Amino acid sequence: MSIKKYYQLRNEIDAQTKHFDLLHQENMVCKKGCDKCCLDFDVFPIEYEAVKVQIQKEYPDIIKTLNQSENKERCAFLINGQCTIYNARPIICRTHGYPLINMNEAGDQWELSFCELNFTKVDDTYFDEDNVYEQDTNNSKLFMMNYC
Ligand code: SF4
Repeated sequence: MSIKKYYQLRNEIDAQTKHFDLLHQENMVCKKGCDKCCLDFDVFPIEYEAVKVQIQKEYPDIIKTLNQSENKERCAFLINGQCTIYNARPIICRTHGYPLINMNEAGDQWELSFCELNFTKVDDTYFDEDNVYEQDTNNSKLFMMNYC
């Protein structure tokens, strides 16, 4: 497992989402304060290590103030509606709000998903292969980093 490779993938994903920010600037209304995506996600071991290392460096006191609420479905790093480890947040969080395509479970069709709170002015027909984030590709890279 290489944390360096993980950070490299993360940088690539940040560059991709920056491109989508520009592409969708007229239609995306996602902003600070909307925390609907901040659920209690599982992460791969390499991501756990990388996030832990960065938290220790950049947010050393955060563990003491973690959200210990009874709502186990929400992310513990979400405090007062804000991500408290924003620079270190996992890859899944870096794609929050963007239109995504994934292969369906049968493996025979792409499926589009997008947040209707975010894209309020468009419907499915607005999206095409050039303006959606292909989540499976990067998830596969992340998987390979852990197990190959
Ligand atoms: S790490 Fe931050 S962005 Fe990710 S789910 Fe938690 S609060 Fe939200």
